[in-house]
Amino acid sequence: MISVIVPVYNEEKNLTPINSRLIEILSKLNKEYEIIYIDDCSKDASYGVLRELANSNNRLKIISLSRNFGQTLAVQAGIDNAQGDILVFMDADMQNDPADIPKLLSKIEEGYDVVSGWRRQRKDPFLNKKLPSFIANSLISFLFKTRIHDLGCALKAYKKEVFSNIRLYGEMHRLLPLYAAINGASIAEVEVRHNSRPSGKSHYGWSRLFKVSLDLVTVRFFEGYATKPIYFFGGIGVFFLSLGMLAGIIVIVRKILFQGIWISPLLFTSFLFVLVGMQLILIGLLAEITIRIYYKSANNPTYIIRDKH
Ligand code: UDP
Ligand code: MG
Repeated sequence: MISVIVPVYNEEKNLTPINSRLIEILSKLNKEYEIIYIDDCSKDASYGVLRELANSNNRLKIISLSRNFGQTLAVQAGIDNAQGDILVFMDADMQNDPADIPKLLSKIEEGYDVVSGWRRQRKDPFLNKKLPSFIANSLISFLFKTRIHDLGCALKAYKKEVFSNIRLYGEMHRLLPLYAAINGASIAEVEVRHNSRPSGKSHYGWSRLFKVSLDLVTVRFFEGYATKPIYFFGGIGVFFLSLGMLAGIIVIVRKILFQGIWISPLLFTSFLFVLVGMQLILIGLLAEITIRIYYKSANNPTYIIRDKH
């Protein structure tokens, strides 16, 4: 079964057209399917429109969150409530065309775990969409071996198993394929169409570049040190500690053998580096304790559902 997961926030005008287009395409596949709309506590009439659509079609599931948790957690709510073995993600804003879904599915059938859309001809404003995306994608190529051209494309398909070890936090939905790749998933790309937003406005701007950069640091850290954070912090710590001790030795030797001075910039540098080094090693130990708890802890929910149909 295929589960299409669509997060919705203030998309009242887009819902009816995207829904009919989805049903048109999905019903041609001759496969079982469900469409899960997660209303992320929209302020407009989206929820009412969704209820109405669901009344006439039992393949639609509507999940309504108790407040605006953001796209990432809305998607996570969809994943948790999906019954399909293949999950397709899509935005509700009509920018992606459901007609591309069969292309994604055939790649999944070829054996890939993740198939990402690639908007070759992207219909978005240059300055506050294409440019930040270009910067983010270049950063990704620099930091990771996985080459994904268009990580920001909302249209993606995943095998359900991918999510057995991944929970989404913050705005992680954008970097999901990277997390999947860390866990060993194979990734394919297919070119997809892209339209400009017919109604409503985008929920993100330049601020996302700042969030994405920090998220990238996190994924990169997880990729390299998820089970051994002490190597990361301890490594830098030992470096500073050694430098600090070296500076200390120089001060002592200079004083004793060459009648030099005690109080000097080098002495303070030595103190500073030894302190920083020890702090970093201690942070590494704390991180070790934290990840041990992390790997053992129960899956606590990060969102709350108000209503489910
Ligand atoms: N969205 C959501 N919660 C939010 C913000 C957005 O569920 O807090 C949904 C939104 O309705 C849309 C998708 O996430 O279906 C992507 O949003 P948008 O089109 O604004 O992002 P962009 O295409 O500009 O990256
Ligand atoms: Mg959009």
